[in-house]
Amino acid sequence: MAEIVVLGAGLSGTLMAYELAPKLRKGDRLSVIGQGSRYHFVPSNPWVAVGWREKSDIEIDLDEVMRRKGIRHFTQGARRAHPAENRIELEDGSSIDYDYLVIATGPELAFDEVPGLGPDGHTQSVCHVDHALKARAAFERFVENPGPIIVGAAQGASCFGPAYEFAFILDTELRKRRIRDRVPMTFVTSEPYVGHLGLDGVGDTKGLLESEMRDRHIKWITNAKVKTVEAGKMTVEEVGDDGAVVRTHELPFAYSMMLPAFRGVTAVRGIEGLTNPRGFILTDKTQRNPAFPNIFAVGVGVAIPPVTVTPVPTGVPKTGFMIESMVTATAINIVALLRGETATAQATWNAVCLADFGDSGIAFVAQPEIPPRNVNWSSKGAWVHYAKVAFEKFFLRKIRLGESEPFYERFVLEKLGIRKIKQAS
Ligand code: FAD
Repeated sequence: MAEIVVLGAGLSGTLMAYELAPKLRKGDRLSVIGQGSRYHFVPSNPWVAVGWREKSDIEIDLDEVMRRKGIRHFTQGARRAHPAENRIELEDGSSIDYDYLVIATGPELAFDEVPGLGPDGHTQSVCHVDHALKARAAFERFVENPGPIIVGAAQGASCFGPAYEFAFILDTELRKRRIRDRVPMTFVTSEPYVGHLGLDGVGDTKGLLESEMRDRHIKWITNAKVKTVEAGKMTVEEVGDDGAVVRTHELPFAYSMMLPAFRGVTAVRGIEGLTNPRGFILTDKTQRNPAFPNIFAVGVGVAIPPVTVTPVPTGVPKTGFMIESMVTATAINIVALLRGETATAQATWNAVCLADFGDSGIAFVAQPEIPPRNVNWSSKGAWVHYAKVAFEKFFLRKIRLGESEPFYERFVLEKLGIRKIKQAS
């Protein structure tokens, strides 16, 4: 009988545990290691930051769900993985041994790579729900005395969608409060063009997002490297195609939210053979680490090379749809290995994304995520906002009930009726 451990209980780890549990043999034991007992739905953080959601609306206590599903739930967090010993050391000094490990630890937020960046510096973040709460308190202070806003994504960032979302959500909220006319807005991004998204664009995301920015009077700086952030001032270097600085901007701001670069978490970073230099887990096409073949990885913590070389470094986003396909492949592969068979299942790596603007939004389908693609589609409309609200509701229900069936594709096909993802399969 086997010990299977899932490290990390965010989006990918929770889906992983739910999908694996019913597939295991009688006597196999499944454990999940998280940091605290509560799951938070990260895609709703931008709404928390403007007061459209409370923290309690998007959090679920996993203890009860895991107990119901017969999954051991450790909430003290992991200090270090010891792959050569098949052991995870926990923060309280105890250890858990495993036969198979799935690493689902998501990103560490590399604010420290830019002086003054992040919630301990001078910019806000929506990457964690507690950051979003802090961003909200700062926003409430800001509306008392409005001024310029900067939103964007720093060099090395891989997750751009939430930056666009947050810029447009802020615009919507400021218009609701009738103070938008007092707020010059600038979008600062490491992408080479608006709508690149770390994916070299999807469909016409360039045209759609530029047009939306023009409509909403949001200026932008692309190929941007944030040099420093001080209280009320961001220094940004704009580089040319050869990477040389062509202009330095000193941008005043009264409120700023910048997404940082990601790296792998300290519990796994720097383990020879397990991670790349940024601490992301190296995997083959079956989500399996080549050096430690009893270790799989899913989610944002997986190493994926950039789609294109950009003048300012950017990474590839790992979105929910793609993450779920990694989870499904991993579940099939672990079960195959338990039966003495070979692990052959591969994730589909398609991206389907709903980016909310508060009153409308854009949706895109990239199949596969990395171009050239069989499906390369984007669309804009108020329907995207409502679809995202529905998505949140159904997803949280799934997590609360502990449903084990894959969710994303069913939601996209059945609830949204987006059939593009089936076109090329
Ligand atoms: P996470 O959900 O971050 O989970 C990682 C978990 O690992 C965390 O719970 C963490 O506590 C835990 N962990 C870390 N270290 C340890 C340790 N040492 N011991 C134990 N546990 C540990 N994707 C979409 O498809 N659609 C969206 O709308 C969307 N919106 C996003 C909005 C934001 C603001 C961000 C940042 C990302 C968004 N994404 C979206 C991308 C992606 O879907 C999410 O980031 C998703 O949460 C990633 O899942 P994950 O499991 O890899 O990481």
